[in-house]
Amino acid sequence: MKKEEQIIQALRQVKDPEVPVLDIVEMGIVRGVEITESQIIITITPTYTGCPAMRVIEEEINQVLKTEGYENVEVKTVLFPAWTTDWLTEEARLKLKAYGIAPPEKVNEVDLNPFNWEEKKVACPFCESMNTSLTSQFGSTACKALYYCNNCQQPFEHFKCI
Ligand SMILES: [Zn+2]
Repeated sequence: MKKEEQIIQALRQVKDPEVPVLDIVEMGIVRGVEITESQIIITITPTYTGCPAMRVIEEEINQVLKTEGYENVEVKTVLFPAWTTDWLTEEARLKLKAYGIAPPEKVNEVDLNPFNWEEKKVACPFCESMNTSLTSQFGSTACKALYYCNNCQQPFEHFKCI
């Protein structure tokens, strides 16, 4: 295995604090691994600007790589191109759903209109019903919205940030 791949594998130990079932590689947060003569540069893109979880992620990357025996690690944050939920792998979407969070839809024009969020119908991750309603635009974190399924009567979260 190439050294870059080994590092990527090690980075899979770092979970997204927002969604503990997903690691930062399948989230699409890790954008690149660069090995120079003097250091290892890990490039990451936050899921949304100012996401407080990024500080935690950065520290965890440093810790995990140190444990794996890598030295002189630098974590670089790049904001462009901005992270979108399109970077989530198919596997990541399935895991989100299994975790009880409705996975984000692929970005379309409706999503890009900030005034359209009330209209958006989200399928219940438990029973697939479209008979759901938005309870709060903000769930446990700014990235999630709270929904309620009128069919199976369970609250669930929708990962909404794009
Ligand atoms: Zn339901």
